[in-house]
Amino acid sequence: MSAPTPPGPHDLSVSLDLGGRTALVTGAAGGIGRACALRLAAAGAEVRALDRDADGLAALARRAEGLRGTVETRTLDLTDLDAAESAAAGTDVLVNNAGLQLVRPIQEFPPQAFHTVLTVMLEAPFRLIRGALPHMYARGWGRIVNISSVHGIRASAYKSAYVAAKHGLEGLSKTAALEGAPHGVTSVCVNPGYVRTPLVERQLADQAAAHGLPEDRVLSEVMLREAAIRRLAEPEEVAEAVAYLCSPHASFITGTSVALDGGWTAH
Ligand code: NAD
Repeated sequence: MSAPTPPGPHDLSVSLDLGGRTALVTGAAGGIGRACALRLAAAGAEVRALDRDADGLAALARRAEGLRGTVETRTLDLTDLDAAESAAAGTDVLVNNAGLQLVRPIQEFPPQAFHTVLTVMLEAPFRLIRGALPHMYARGWGRIVNISSVHGIRASAYKSAYVAAKHGLEGLSKTAALEGAPHGVTSVCVNPGYVRTPLVERQLADQAAAHGLPEDRVLSEVMLREAAIRRLAEPEEVAEAVAYLCSPHASFITGTSVALDGGWTAH
């Protein structure tokens, strides 16, 4: 008897068709959010790209021309929580991505900055989920992808607000998963290690000061110290995982956290 023919690549490939779906991506003007907006639009989604950076959004809109789906931009500061909640109405897919970082020891961490980080990275996601759920529940389908971080699972010194917000986001995401399950709504965290984005470039100087190191040693001696794969991830690698989690194939993945961290959390 001859051996069975192994399946070819076509039989195994996953099609990411988000035609007919509306997707809201926050923090879409740069870095990971921009890559997610472009990836979801390439899969056919009608993307609503939200950010406080109007110039970055205009550049995104130009880049999105010609994709299968569309990208509609809206300038909004997520500290306006009521506006954030109403912006999420009517969306099938919600990618909570917007974020910011400040690197300081706790005793020097400005309380107002702590408050802002928690507002943008935890309270706004709650309000966006709250705004999105009625439509998702009415359709019996929805995808919530929360861009967390390795810092949703691990702490690093000098990042109290960021680590606190990401740990909170993990809890919010799990709760949304439990409540959303009977309505066909999944909620998942994606946990990147360090990704090549402006957020990382901006923190090199702060990390150097906090750790007492020259800036050119921060990448290898602080940021990539724990990773098995010692390079930065690219935003497109994160966007590909996000697109998969938004697809019909990911309907059983909920209430969990997907690490894209080059082996950091294997320790
Ligand atoms: P980035 O700075 O390139 O992009 C963040 C975007 O959020 C910016 O466009 C910014 O304008 C927007 N934003 C910030 N505050 C806002 C507000 N108040 N209202 C509206 N928009 C606001 O950063 P990034 O690296 O692409 O980060 C995106 C997400 O990924 C963040 O949640 C971050 O914590 C997470 N993350 C990043 C890394 C990394 O290494 N870059 C690693 C793990 C997780």
